[in-house]
Amino acid sequence: MSDPNCIFCKIVAGQIPAKKVYEDDQIVAFHDIHPWAPVHILIVPKQHVPSMVEVTEADAPLLGRMMAVSPRLMRELGVTNGFRHVVNTGRDGGQEVMHLHLHVFGGPRPWLKG
Ligand code: 5GP
Ligand code: ZN
Repeated sequence: MSDPNCIFCKIVAGQIPAKKVYEDDQIVAFHDIHPWAPVHILIVPKQHVPSMVEVTEADAPLLGRMMAVSPRLMRELGVTNGFRHVVNTGRDGGQEVMHLHLHVFGGPRPWLKG
């Protein structure tokens, strides 16, 4: 369920610091360490799912929760003018951290990327 070499598993476990903005029994959200936008958070499952490649229909409630909590978090972080979701998958998809994560970007443009 957890990978001892995975940086996001360590954040979930509180073994390395992160600016957490939300946590429940299944997911954690925290600020990206190198933000591309004024607000850039990552929403991750607590269990170690490497990427969307491993996701099945049984994960629909987990993915739904990750998506569904994001508007509230953006609101709480002061984002009032829309936001963007991104999920990178695998090498060709540009994924660098192999623990499933949903990027959520918001805040006034210009942004660094995206
Ligand atoms: P990916 O390219 O895998 O979709 O994005 C990984 C994201 O994780 C990058 O935006 C990167 O800045 C972020 N990241 C990598 N290591 C850490 C870390 O230790 N803490 C936090 N908060 N974000 C990280
Ligand atoms: Zn992990």
